[in-house]
Amino acid sequence: MTQPTANATNQPKTHSKTTFETHTFNHTATELDSFAPRILNWFDNNGRHDLPWQQHQTDTPNPYIVWLSEVMLQQTQVTTVIPYFQRFMTSFPTVQDLAKAEWDRIAEHWAGMGYYARARNLHKGAKQLVEIIEKTDDYPQTVEDWEAIAGVGRSTAGAIVAMGLHGYGVICDGNVKRVITRWAGIDDDIMKAATTKDLWALAARLTPIDAPIQESGHYAQAMMDMGATLCTRRHPSCEVCPISADCIAHAQGREMDYPVKAKKKPKPSKFSNALVIINPKNDILWLQRPDSGIWGGLWVLPLQFMQKTQGKTVLSSADEDAAFESENTLAEQIIANWMADNGLNARSLSHSLLDDAPIKHSLTHFHWYLQPQGLHITAVQAQALTQLLEKADINMTWLAADTAKATLGLPKAMLKVLDVVG
Ligand code: SF4
Repeated sequence: MTQPTANATNQPKTHSKTTFETHTFNHTATELDSFAPRILNWFDNNGRHDLPWQQHQTDTPNPYIVWLSEVMLQQTQVTTVIPYFQRFMTSFPTVQDLAKAEWDRIAEHWAGMGYYARARNLHKGAKQLVEIIEKTDDYPQTVEDWEAIAGVGRSTAGAIVAMGLHGYGVICDGNVKRVITRWAGIDDDIMKAATTKDLWALAARLTPIDAPIQESGHYAQAMMDMGATLCTRRHPSCEVCPISADCIAHAQGREMDYPVKAKKKPKPSKFSNALVIINPKNDILWLQRPDSGIWGGLWVLPLQFMQKTQGKTVLSSADEDAAFESENTLAEQIIANWMADNGLNARSLSHSLLDDAPIKHSLTHFHWYLQPQGLHITAVQAQALTQLLEKADINMTWLAADTAKATLGLPKAMLKVLDVVG
Protein backbone atom coordinates (compact mmCIF):
# COMPACT_ATOMS: atom_id res chain seq x y z
CA MET A 1 0.00 0.00 0.00
CA THR A 2 1.29 3.44 -0.79
CA GLN A 3 1.14 5.76 2.20
CA PRO A 4 -0.29 9.20 1.59
CA THR A 5 2.36 11.84 2.09
CA ALA A 6 2.19 15.56 1.96
CA ASN A 7 4.26 18.47 3.03
CA ALA A 8 3.02 21.38 5.03
CA THR A 9 1.79 23.18 1.95
CA ASN A 10 0.24 20.22 0.17
CA GLN A 11 -2.29 18.55 2.44
CA PRO A 12 -4.42 15.78 0.97
CA LYS A 13 -8.06 16.56 1.61
CA THR A 14 -9.67 13.12 1.66
CA HIS A 15 -8.89 9.67 3.06
CA SER A 16 -7.73 7.11 0.55
CA LYS A 17 -9.54 3.81 0.75
CA THR A 18 -7.45 1.22 2.61
CA THR A 19 -7.50 -2.51 2.06
CA PHE A 20 -6.72 -4.76 5.00
CA GLU A 21 -4.84 -7.90 4.04
CA THR A 22 -5.59 -10.34 6.81
CA HIS A 23 -7.76 -8.71 9.40
CA THR A 24 -11.52 -8.40 9.44
CA PHE A 25 -12.16 -5.02 10.86
CA ASN A 26 -14.88 -4.55 13.46
CA HIS A 27 -14.92 -0.84 14.25
CA THR A 28 -17.45 1.52 12.73
CA ALA A 29 -16.49 4.57 10.69
CA THR A 30 -17.57 6.74 13.63
CA GLU A 31 -15.27 4.87 15.99
CA LEU A 32 -12.41 5.13 13.50
CA ASP A 33 -13.03 8.83 12.94
CA SER A 34 -13.29 9.63 16.64
CA PHE A 35 -10.08 7.75 17.52
CA ALA A 36 -7.71 10.69 16.86
CA PRO A 37 -9.85 13.38 18.56
CA ARG A 38 -10.09 11.22 21.68
CA ILE A 39 -6.34 10.61 21.74
CA LEU A 40 -5.60 14.31 21.13
CA ASN A 41 -7.95 15.39 23.88
CA TRP A 42 -6.28 12.96 26.31
CA PHE A 43 -2.83 14.17 25.23
CA ASP A 44 -3.70 17.84 25.73
CA ASN A 45 -4.79 17.16 29.29
CA ASN A 46 -2.48 14.33 30.35
CA GLY A 47 0.41 14.01 27.90
CA ARG A 48 4.02 15.12 28.22
CA HIS A 49 4.54 18.65 26.94
CA ASP A 50 7.98 19.48 28.28
CA LEU A 51 10.35 17.04 26.56
CA PRO A 52 13.27 19.07 25.20
CA TRP A 53 12.72 17.99 21.59
CA GLN A 54 8.96 18.50 21.37
CA GLN A 55 7.84 20.81 18.56
CA HIS A 56 4.06 20.57 18.74
CA GLN A 57 3.67 23.88 20.54
CA THR A 58 5.64 25.96 18.06
CA ASP A 59 4.62 27.29 14.64
CA THR A 60 8.18 27.00 13.39
CA PRO A 61 9.25 23.40 14.05
CA ASN A 62 12.89 22.40 13.64
CA PRO A 63 13.28 19.11 11.70
CA TYR A 64 16.91 18.74 12.92
CA ILE A 65 15.76 18.51 16.54
CA VAL A 66 13.08 15.95 15.71
CA TRP A 67 15.42 13.86 13.55
CA LEU A 68 18.15 13.83 16.21
CA SER A 69 15.77 12.88 19.02
CA GLU A 70 13.93 10.26 16.97
CA VAL A 71 17.18 8.45 16.10
CA MET A 72 18.27 8.57 19.75
CA LEU A 73 14.87 7.24 20.89
CA GLN A 74 14.91 4.31 18.44
CA GLN A 75 16.34 1.89 21.00
CA THR A 76 16.68 3.99 24.14
CA GLN A 77 14.27 5.19 26.83
CA VAL A 78 13.25 8.86 27.09
CA THR A 79 14.90 9.39 30.50
CA THR A 80 18.25 8.07 29.23
CA VAL A 81 18.06 10.09 26.03
CA ILE A 82 17.39 13.53 27.62
CA PRO A 83 20.96 14.28 28.87
CA TYR A 84 22.52 12.86 25.67
CA PHE A 85 20.18 14.99 23.55
CA GLN A 86 21.03 18.10 25.55
CA ARG A 87 24.78 17.49 25.19
CA PHE A 88 24.39 16.97 21.46
CA MET A 89 22.38 20.17 21.08
CA THR A 90 24.97 22.13 23.07
CA SER A 91 27.91 20.81 21.04
CA PHE A 92 26.16 20.48 17.67
CA PRO A 93 23.31 23.03 17.66
CA THR A 94 22.74 22.74 13.90
CA VAL A 95 22.87 19.96 11.34
CA GLN A 96 25.86 21.75 9.79
CA ASP A 97 27.76 21.52 13.10
CA LEU A 98 27.04 17.80 13.29
CA ALA A 99 28.02 17.20 9.65
CA LYS A 100 31.44 18.85 10.05
CA ALA A 101 32.25 17.32 13.46
CA GLU A 102 35.02 14.71 13.73
CA TRP A 103 33.68 11.19 14.19
CA ASP A 104 35.63 10.67 17.43
CA ARG A 105 33.88 13.68 18.96
CA ILE A 106 30.45 12.31 18.01
CA ALA A 107 31.39 8.86 19.33
CA GLU A 108 32.49 10.42 22.59
CA HIS A 109 29.12 12.24 22.90
CA TRP A 110 27.28 8.99 22.14
CA ALA A 111 29.39 6.72 24.39
CA GLY A 112 27.24 4.65 26.73
CA MET A 113 24.01 4.79 24.75
CA GLY A 114 24.72 1.61 22.75
CA TYR A 115 23.67 0.62 19.22
CA TYR A 116 26.49 2.70 17.72
CA ALA A 117 25.27 2.20 14.17
CA ARG A 118 22.76 4.95 15.04
CA ALA A 119 25.57 7.43 15.80
CA ARG A 120 27.33 6.47 12.55
CA ASN A 121 24.07 7.01 10.68
CA LEU A 122 23.55 10.39 12.36
CA HIS A 123 26.95 11.54 11.13
CA LYS A 124 26.32 10.22 7.62
CA GLY A 125 22.73 11.53 7.66
CA ALA A 126 23.90 15.01 8.72
CA LYS A 127 26.23 15.14 5.71
CA GLN A 128 23.39 14.01 3.40
CA LEU A 129 21.05 16.64 4.87
CA VAL A 130 23.59 19.44 4.49
CA GLU A 131 24.04 18.48 0.84
CA ILE A 132 20.26 18.59 0.29
CA ILE A 133 19.93 21.92 2.13
CA GLU A 134 22.74 23.41 0.03
CA LYS A 135 20.91 22.35 -3.15
CA THR A 136 17.29 23.10 -2.20
CA ASP A 137 17.64 25.58 0.64
CA ASP A 138 15.47 23.36 2.83
CA TYR A 139 15.18 20.01 4.59
CA PRO A 140 13.60 17.07 2.73
CA GLN A 141 9.82 17.57 2.76
CA THR A 142 8.31 14.13 2.17
CA VAL A 143 8.35 10.79 3.99
CA GLU A 144 10.04 9.17 0.96
CA ASP A 145 12.82 11.80 0.90
CA TRP A 146 13.46 11.36 4.62
CA GLU A 147 13.61 7.57 4.19
CA ALA A 148 16.60 8.14 1.90
CA ILE A 149 18.58 9.56 4.85
CA ALA A 150 20.89 7.06 6.62
CA GLY A 151 19.26 5.36 9.59
CA VAL A 152 15.78 6.76 8.92
CA GLY A 153 13.13 4.05 8.53
CA ARG A 154 9.50 4.47 7.54
CA SER A 155 8.15 5.25 11.01
CA THR A 156 10.99 7.66 11.87
CA ALA A 157 10.44 9.41 8.52
CA GLY A 158 6.72 9.72 9.31
CA ALA A 159 7.51 11.14 12.75
CA ILE A 160 9.94 13.70 11.30
CA VAL A 161 7.49 14.91 8.66
CA ALA A 162 4.66 15.04 11.21
CA MET A 163 6.51 16.60 14.14
CA GLY A 164 9.44 18.35 12.45
CA LEU A 165 7.54 19.81 9.48
CA HIS A 166 3.95 19.70 10.74
CA GLY A 167 3.04 17.82 7.57
CA TYR A 168 1.17 14.56 7.11
CA GLY A 169 3.31 11.69 8.38
CA VAL A 170 2.21 8.32 9.73
CA ILE A 171 4.04 6.59 12.56
CA CYS A 172 3.78 2.88 13.29
CA ASP A 173 6.57 2.03 15.73
CA GLY A 174 6.45 -0.55 18.53
CA ASN A 175 4.37 1.67 20.82
CA VAL A 176 1.79 2.46 18.16
CA LYS A 177 1.58 -1.21 17.15
CA ARG A 178 0.83 -2.17 20.74
CA VAL A 179 -1.96 0.42 21.07
CA ILE A 180 -3.66 -0.37 17.78
CA THR A 181 -3.38 -4.17 17.95
CA ARG A 182 -5.08 -3.99 21.36
CA TRP A 183 -7.70 -1.47 20.31
CA ALA A 184 -8.53 -3.29 17.07
CA GLY A 185 -8.04 -6.80 18.50
CA ILE A 186 -5.49 -7.73 15.80
CA ASP A 187 -4.29 -11.17 16.86
CA ASP A 188 -2.09 -12.02 13.88
CA ASP A 189 1.68 -12.30 14.34
CA ILE A 190 3.00 -8.74 14.00
CA MET A 191 6.29 -10.07 12.62
CA LYS A 192 4.50 -11.24 9.45
CA ALA A 193 4.60 -8.99 6.39
CA ALA A 194 0.83 -9.15 5.80
CA THR A 195 0.12 -8.05 9.39
CA THR A 196 2.65 -5.23 9.11
CA LYS A 197 0.86 -4.05 6.00
CA ASP A 198 -2.48 -4.05 7.83
CA LEU A 199 -1.04 -2.20 10.80
CA TRP A 200 0.36 0.52 8.57
CA ALA A 201 -2.95 0.80 6.74
CA LEU A 202 -4.80 1.12 10.03
CA ALA A 203 -2.25 3.60 11.41
CA ALA A 204 -2.71 5.71 8.25
CA ARG A 205 -6.51 5.51 8.52
CA LEU A 206 -6.37 6.73 12.12
CA THR A 207 -3.95 9.62 11.50
CA PRO A 208 -5.79 12.93 11.01
CA ILE A 209 -5.57 14.13 7.42
CA ASP A 210 -8.01 16.98 6.90
CA ALA A 211 -7.43 18.53 10.31
CA PRO A 212 -5.27 21.67 10.74
CA ILE A 213 -1.84 20.96 9.34
CA GLN A 214 -0.04 20.74 12.66
CA GLU A 215 -2.48 18.05 13.85
CA SER A 216 -0.57 15.06 12.46
CA GLY A 217 2.53 16.05 14.45
CA HIS A 218 0.42 16.62 17.50
CA TYR A 219 -1.19 13.21 16.98
CA ALA A 220 2.18 11.47 16.46
CA GLN A 221 3.36 12.88 19.77
CA ALA A 222 0.09 11.85 21.42
CA MET A 223 0.35 8.25 20.16
CA MET A 224 3.93 8.01 21.41
CA ASP A 225 2.74 9.15 24.83
CA MET A 226 -0.18 6.72 24.78
CA GLY A 227 2.20 3.80 24.19
CA ALA A 228 4.90 5.01 26.57
CA THR A 229 2.81 6.13 29.52
CA LEU A 230 -0.72 4.69 29.33
CA CYS A 231 -1.07 1.60 27.13
CA THR A 232 2.22 0.23 28.41
CA ARG A 233 3.54 -3.26 27.77
CA ARG A 234 3.03 -4.67 31.26
CA HIS A 235 0.56 -2.33 33.02
CA PRO A 236 -1.97 -0.71 30.67
CA SER A 237 -4.11 1.88 32.52
CA CYS A 238 -7.37 0.99 30.82
CA GLU A 239 -9.47 2.71 33.47
CA VAL A 240 -8.24 6.15 32.34
CA CYS A 241 -7.77 5.34 28.66
CA PRO A 242 -9.63 7.57 26.18
CA ILE A 243 -10.30 4.67 23.78
CA SER A 244 -11.28 1.99 26.29
CA ALA A 245 -14.99 2.13 25.36
CA ASP A 246 -14.33 0.40 22.03
CA CYS A 247 -10.99 -1.31 22.78
CA ILE A 248 -11.38 -4.96 21.82
CA ALA A 249 -8.52 -6.26 24.00
CA HIS A 250 -10.04 -4.50 26.99
CA ALA A 251 -13.53 -5.82 26.25
CA GLN A 252 -12.05 -9.32 26.06
CA GLY A 253 -10.02 -8.78 29.25
CA ARG A 254 -6.98 -9.88 27.19
CA GLU A 255 -4.89 -6.69 27.07
CA MET A 256 -1.67 -8.61 27.69
CA ASP A 257 -2.27 -11.03 24.80
CA TYR A 258 -1.56 -8.24 22.29
CA PRO A 259 0.48 -7.68 20.24
CA VAL A 260 1.00 -11.27 19.13
CA LYS A 261 4.62 -12.02 18.36
CA ALA A 262 5.71 -15.55 17.37
CA LYS A 263 8.47 -16.92 19.59
CA LYS A 264 11.90 -16.55 18.07
CA LYS A 265 14.78 -19.03 18.31
CA PRO A 266 17.20 -18.13 21.13
CA LYS A 267 19.84 -15.61 20.13
CA PRO A 268 23.28 -17.10 19.51
CA SER A 269 25.92 -16.43 22.17
CA LYS A 270 29.46 -15.43 21.32
CA PHE A 271 32.31 -15.86 23.82
CA SER A 272 35.49 -13.79 23.52
CA ASN A 273 38.43 -12.88 25.69
CA ALA A 274 38.92 -9.12 26.10
CA LEU A 275 42.68 -8.60 26.20
CA VAL A 276 43.98 -5.90 28.50
CA ILE A 277 47.54 -5.66 27.14
CA ILE A 278 49.58 -3.40 29.41
CA ASN A 279 53.01 -1.86 28.72
CA PRO A 280 55.53 -0.93 31.47
CA LYS A 281 54.05 2.62 31.66
CA ASN A 282 50.69 1.05 32.62
CA ASP A 283 49.16 2.08 29.32
CA ILE A 284 46.66 -0.28 27.66
CA LEU A 285 46.54 -1.16 23.97
CA TRP A 286 43.41 0.18 22.18
CA LEU A 287 42.33 -0.58 18.63
CA GLN A 288 39.91 1.40 16.47
CA ARG A 289 37.30 -0.93 14.94
CA PRO A 290 36.83 -0.87 11.16
CA ASP A 291 34.07 1.52 10.02
CA SER A 292 31.63 -1.23 9.11
CA GLY A 293 30.29 -3.84 11.51
CA ILE A 294 29.68 -3.81 15.24
CA TRP A 295 31.13 -0.80 17.08
CA GLY A 296 32.26 0.65 13.73
CA GLY A 297 34.83 3.40 14.30
CA LEU A 298 34.89 3.00 18.09
CA TRP A 299 37.89 2.12 20.23
CA VAL A 300 38.01 -1.31 21.85
CA LEU A 301 40.36 -3.69 23.60
CA PRO A 302 41.66 -6.46 21.34
CA LEU A 303 39.20 -9.36 21.50
CA GLN A 304 39.95 -13.02 21.02
CA PHE A 305 37.09 -15.10 19.68
CA MET A 306 36.60 -18.36 21.61
CA GLN A 307 33.29 -19.87 20.47
CA LYS A 308 29.75 -19.24 19.27
CA THR A 309 26.79 -21.29 20.50
CA GLN A 310 23.05 -21.46 20.05
CA GLY A 311 21.38 -23.17 22.97
CA LYS A 312 23.62 -26.19 23.56
CA THR A 313 24.84 -26.38 19.96
CA VAL A 314 28.36 -25.10 19.26
CA LEU A 315 28.14 -23.15 16.00
CA SER A 316 31.86 -22.37 15.64
CA SER A 317 35.03 -22.28 17.71
CA ALA A 318 38.47 -20.66 17.73
CA ASP A 319 40.09 -23.89 16.47
CA GLU A 320 38.46 -23.43 13.07
CA ASP A 321 40.49 -21.32 10.64
CA ALA A 322 37.36 -19.87 9.03
CA ALA A 323 35.98 -18.73 12.40
CA PHE A 324 39.38 -17.30 13.44
CA GLU A 325 39.37 -15.14 10.33
CA SER A 326 35.71 -14.14 10.27
CA GLU A 327 35.24 -13.51 13.99
CA ASN A 328 38.49 -11.60 14.67
CA THR A 329 39.43 -8.33 13.01
CA LEU A 330 42.72 -8.16 11.13
CA ALA A 331 44.34 -6.42 14.14
CA GLU A 332 43.08 -9.15 16.47
CA GLN A 333 44.44 -11.87 14.18
CA ILE A 334 47.86 -10.13 14.12
CA ILE A 335 47.87 -9.91 17.93
CA ALA A 336 46.80 -13.57 18.37
CA ASN A 337 49.51 -14.77 15.99
CA TRP A 338 52.13 -12.53 17.63
CA MET A 339 51.22 -13.89 21.08
CA ALA A 340 51.42 -17.48 19.82
CA ASP A 341 54.80 -16.82 18.12
CA ASN A 342 56.17 -15.35 21.35
CA GLY A 343 54.66 -17.95 23.68
CA LEU A 344 52.57 -15.30 25.49
CA ASN A 345 49.40 -16.20 27.36
CA ALA A 346 46.93 -13.75 28.83
CA ARG A 347 45.70 -14.41 32.37
CA SER A 348 42.40 -13.82 34.06
CA LEU A 349 42.45 -10.35 35.62
CA SER A 350 39.22 -10.57 37.42
CA HIS A 351 37.55 -12.19 40.34
CA SER A 352 37.46 -15.94 39.81
CA LEU A 353 33.66 -15.95 39.79
CA LEU A 354 33.78 -14.05 36.53
CA ASP A 355 35.49 -17.01 34.87
CA ASP A 356 32.18 -18.84 35.01
CA ALA A 357 30.06 -15.73 34.43
CA PRO A 358 31.80 -13.38 32.01
CA ILE A 359 30.47 -9.89 31.25
CA LYS A 360 27.31 -10.15 29.18
CA HIS A 361 26.61 -7.63 26.47
CA SER A 362 23.47 -8.04 24.38
CA LEU A 363 23.40 -6.88 20.78
CA THR A 364 20.59 -7.12 18.23
CA HIS A 365 21.58 -10.49 16.82
CA PHE A 366 23.53 -12.15 19.61
CA HIS A 367 24.69 -11.99 23.20
CA TRP A 368 28.38 -11.33 23.59
CA TYR A 369 30.15 -12.71 26.66
CA LEU A 370 33.47 -11.03 27.38
CA GLN A 371 36.11 -12.53 29.65
CA PRO A 372 38.73 -9.92 30.64
CA GLN A 373 42.31 -11.30 30.39
CA GLY A 374 45.45 -9.38 31.32
CA LEU A 375 48.88 -9.47 29.70
CA HIS A 376 51.83 -7.39 30.95
CA ILE A 377 54.49 -7.00 28.29
CA THR A 378 57.97 -5.44 28.18
CA ALA A 379 58.84 -2.17 26.44
CA VAL A 380 60.60 -4.12 23.68
CA GLN A 381 57.56 -6.34 23.16
CA ALA A 382 55.24 -3.28 23.14
CA GLN A 383 57.42 -1.67 20.49
CA ALA A 384 57.48 -4.83 18.35
CA LEU A 385 53.70 -5.19 18.56
CA THR A 386 53.17 -1.50 17.73
CA GLN A 387 55.37 -1.84 14.64
CA LEU A 388 53.48 -4.94 13.46
CA LEU A 389 50.11 -3.20 13.81
CA GLU A 390 51.31 0.03 12.20
CA LYS A 391 52.72 -1.93 9.27
CA ALA A 392 49.21 -3.29 8.69
CA ASP A 393 47.74 0.27 8.84
CA ILE A 394 45.79 -0.46 12.02
CA ASN A 395 44.61 2.57 14.00
CA MET A 396 45.89 1.91 17.50
CA THR A 397 47.00 3.72 20.61
CA TRP A 398 48.38 3.09 24.10
CA LEU A 399 46.42 4.89 26.83
CA ALA A 400 45.76 4.40 30.54
CA ALA A 401 42.20 3.32 31.37
CA ASP A 402 41.12 6.73 32.77
CA THR A 403 42.50 8.67 29.81
CA ALA A 404 40.87 6.23 27.38
CA LYS A 405 37.51 6.65 29.12
CA ALA A 406 37.82 10.46 28.92
CA THR A 407 39.12 10.83 25.39
CA LEU A 408 38.12 7.86 23.23
CA GLY A 409 34.67 6.78 22.09
CA LEU A 410 34.38 3.46 23.95
CA PRO A 411 31.37 1.15 23.63
CA LYS A 412 29.46 0.35 26.81
CA ALA A 413 30.85 -3.21 26.85
CA MET A 414 34.42 -1.85 27.16
CA LEU A 415 33.38 0.37 30.06
CA LYS A 416 31.97 -2.74 31.74
CA VAL A 417 35.30 -4.54 31.25
CA LEU A 418 37.25 -1.58 32.68
CA ASP A 419 34.91 -1.46 35.68
CA VAL A 420 35.62 -5.10 36.41
CA VAL A 421 39.38 -4.94 36.00
CA GLY A 422 39.59 -1.68 38.00
S1 SF4 B 1 -8.15 0.23 26.91
FE1 SF4 B 1 -6.28 -0.56 27.80
S2 SF4 B 1 -5.50 -2.02 26.29
FE2 SF4 B 1 -7.03 -0.76 25.26
S3 SF4 B 1 -5.84 0.86 24.31
FE3 SF4 B 1 -6.50 1.63 26.29
S4 SF4 B 1 -4.85 1.15 27.72
FE4 SF4 B 1 -4.53 -0.05 25.86
